[in-house]
Amino acid sequence: MSAQTQRHNAPHSQHDVIVVGGGMVGASIALALGQIGWQVALVEDQPIPTLPDSQTPFDIRVSALSPKSIAFLQQLGVWSTIRHTRSAPYRRMRVWDAAGTGDVTFQAADIGLPELGFIVENSLIQAALWQAIRNTDTITCLHQSRPTHWHSEGDKAQLCVNGQHRLSAPLLIGADGAKSWVRAAVGITDTHSDYDTAAQVLSVRTEYPQQDITWQRFTAHGPQAFLPLAGHHASVVWYDQIEQVKLRHSLPDDALLDELKAQFPAELGRISAIETRGFFPIRRMHATRYTADRAVILGDAAHTIHPLAGQGVNLGFYDVMALIECLKNSDDLGAPKALQRFERLRRADNLITQTGMDAFHFGFRTQNPLLIGARNLGLTAVAGLSPLRKLVSNFASGAR
Ligand SMILES: Cc1cc2nc3c(=O)[nH]c(=O)nc-3n(C[C@H](O)[C@H](O)[C@H](O)COP(=O)(O)OP(=O)(O)OC[C@H]3O[C@@H](n4cnc5c(N)ncnc54)[C@H](O)[C@@H]3O)c2cc1C
Repeated sequence: MSAQTQRHNAPHSQHDVIVVGGGMVGASIALALGQIGWQVALVEDQPIPTLPDSQTPFDIRVSALSPKSIAFLQQLGVWSTIRHTRSAPYRRMRVWDAAGTGDVTFQAADIGLPELGFIVENSLIQAALWQAIRNTDTITCLHQSRPTHWHSEGDKAQLCVNGQHRLSAPLLIGADGAKSWVRAAVGITDTHSDYDTAAQVLSVRTEYPQQDITWQRFTAHGPQAFLPLAGHHASVVWYDQIEQVKLRHSLPDDALLDELKAQFPAELGRISAIETRGFFPIRRMHATRYTADRAVILGDAAHTIHPLAGQGVNLGFYDVMALIECLKNSDDLGAPKALQRFERLRRADNLITQTGMDAFHFGFRTQNPLLIGARNLGLTAVAGLSPLRKLVSNFASGAR
């Protein structure tokens, strides 16, 4: 694998921070630290996406960004690029139970916000962050590069990249996703479990332009979500047992369109074409700690959750905001005190959100008629009680 380095080719370089992983979370922490004025080395394994134009097919992976995440992207100076390239605001969020009468619609107006969030393609968020990174002199980028060895020496983390470049810095940040190399290299263990569920994700073309509402129907096999994208486009996320997902994934377009028609309400409008399709097995994982000697992990490297409520990357951005808060006045970026404060700030929120998603996942899978009745009563209560609706909407919007 060839290393393409920008601005820096020295075999041994000193930095204030090394970030491994330039996905949405890693790119955002690198940019935030670089904007403060710290010298950052950013190591990313994959080619970096560029901003899409009107002909670029929609990325199959999209995220529902909360107002708090959007405010953070605004601070970084990348939100207006994202917003004006292509994105879909949603002001309403309808959730209903396929096995009963429970049906609730959350509204941005209930909590005094203009939107509950925006649906944006992951590659667009990443491309906008990397565009800003390239214009930030304090960040050295090593892309299509992988770390091969790590050790800490005195007050420095030492990282070898592609077996040739040696980087050193007081702090190593692992933002390299669910299968994090950094997590394993620094000796952080994790607890994990599989849900026996996969998310089938489809980019579809719709007969009507999309409205400002997300739709989520809970079935005993998992939720089915219909998320608006710009113009006549939408993202379908259909959770089901892995075998069922694989079976449907192999269907020709016509047969898959028939399946969608049978499952999704007619009021969503006709789906006229499937543009791209894929599936992702769902796994829950939580690192037993977020910090090690001269190292910290965040985003999916530290926790993965069931994506049914679209909170994953939002939690990653909240990690970034908290870490910046802990580091900004620190003389020694890798000092245990600052890193442990970060872990105290973030662990409970990540765990509560993860456990809340499990409650939804298992609560809607039950076949027990008493629990189904209680569940529908619960949804009806939330629908009828404005304080409860506000509580849920506030949580989804990132207010804690
Ligand atoms: C079906 C589905 C739907 C989802 N929907 C939502 C949603 O609506 N809202 C939401 O908030 N979240 C959602 N999520 C979760 C969200 O996608 C993740 O939380 C998010 O992508 C995590 O970002 P990250 O940057 O931490 O990790 P990643 O996106 O995994 O990025 C990690 C980066 O590190 C790089 N990397 C990996 N290993 C190395 C290495 N050894 N060396 C160098 N680089 C490396 C990778 O190339 C990648 O660029 C969803 C997830 C799924 C599966």
